[in-house]
Amino acid sequence: MNEPTGTLDLFRLDGKVAILTGASSGLGHRFARVLAEAGADVALAARRADRLTDLTDQYENMLAVPCDLTETGAPDGLVAATIERFGQVDIVVNNAGISRVLPAVEDDVDEFRREIEINLVAPYELARKAGKWMLDNERPGSIVNIGSVLGAVAGGRLKVPGYSAAKGGLHNLTRELASQWARKNVRCNAIAPGWFETEMNSGMFGTDGGMKYITDGALMGRPGYEGELDGALLYLVSDASSYVTGQVLFVDGGWTAV
Ligand code: NAP
Repeated sequence: MNEPTGTLDLFRLDGKVAILTGASSGLGHRFARVLAEAGADVALAARRADRLTDLTDQYENMLAVPCDLTETGAPDGLVAATIERFGQVDIVVNNAGISRVLPAVEDDVDEFRREIEINLVAPYELARKAGKWMLDNERPGSIVNIGSVLGAVAGGRLKVPGYSAAKGGLHNLTRELASQWARKNVRCNAIAPGWFETEMNSGMFGTDGGMKYITDGALMGRPGYEGELDGALLYLVSDASSYVTGQVLFVDGGWTAV
């Protein structure tokens, strides 16, 4: 039997290449640094090129690929640019997303479609293109989709029809891709965060009602703090989770436990 020495090394990403979307702010900005610090080469995607350059100026093992992921061919171009620069792709983190808050009866179906495009269609397309490269090249891989607690339960007082539909779809798409690719050692999992303060939800964090919604819903009575997704990310992208696929890992202070 192998001795359990070097267990922490399982979380290292040296020699691996990751694609990360939504790297220009919030969770993605931190994920970029976590992946790079763990040793991966990282291709960063988002529309705000200057925010990506701020990162690539600090880290040699990063590539900025500014793009709107909803544009036709953008996920393809991102995979191609990554392989051109780093020669391979081992990890995809589908993190880019948007959220709109409004009652369904006031919704505009074109805006709903746009939300589904970035939160569900673009991750599917990027996973498909990167997954195909992994399968064609007989390389193991790890795809991690950033879902949400709102992919498992409704928003309640927070009215999020497009977001909850997209994230619920993303959770089950995770299981579907896992089932198609497991025998080829291409794993697909999701992280479902609770509430972490970012540009997306700064309005909620800025109001008493928003904070009450967050603290009442989380068993731990507080939002997530910066860094509290690092472990889940490193676990799922790395060999530490080599026998894990098709799972949604909730990092939500107990939001979905009751
Ligand atoms: P954020 O700060 O608003 O970040 C969203 C990211 O997505 C930005 O980097 C944005 O970059 C990118 N993006 C949006 N539309 C894009 C497009 N069309 N093409 C390319 N990139 C696009 O929000 P966040 O909270 O970090 O969210 C990150 C992920 O976590 C999202 O999937 C979100 O649903 C999920 N999540 C967050 C929380 C939370 O509490 N924060 C909870 C559950 C799930 P550009 O604007 O530069 O394009």
